[in-house]
Amino acid sequence: MSDCIFCKIINGDIPSSKVYEDDKIYAFNDISPQAPVHILIVPKEHICCANMITPDNADVVAHIFSKVGEIAALAGIKDEGYRIINNCGKNAGQTVFHLHFHLMGGKDLGEKLV
Ligand code: AMP
Ligand code: ZN
Repeated sequence: MSDCIFCKIINGDIPSSKVYEDDKIYAFNDISPQAPVHILIVPKEHICCANMITPDNADVVAHIFSKVGEIAALAGIKDEGYRIINNCGKNAGQTVFHLHFHLMGGKDLGEKLV
């Protein structure tokens, strides 16, 4: 999508600090980290948010989760643990409308929301 910042990052039109890439997904460091490790994992296909995950495109979400441990290992936090967060829509504070999963860790993340 031409006006999507994460599509531009995936295409290389906007620089990013890449952590992992394959044919389906791209992972890069968040520009405003909220933890010592704060990586965004995104599908290369533009999907605006969790509401738009369907049986036709859900395989990429499974792929993301099949790679989470590997990406956490690249960041050195696989064994100590981490949190994965997805914000969907206004009440969750989603600011970039290209589906993404925050992979956060590198410290005790403290209180859980759920
Ligand atoms: P969300 O609030 O869940 O939509 O998360 C969007 C995330 O994208 C925020 O944590 C931002 O810091 C991050 N972000 C925005 N622009 C960039 C960028 N150019 N490079 C890396 N991360 C970004
Ligand atoms: Zn996009």
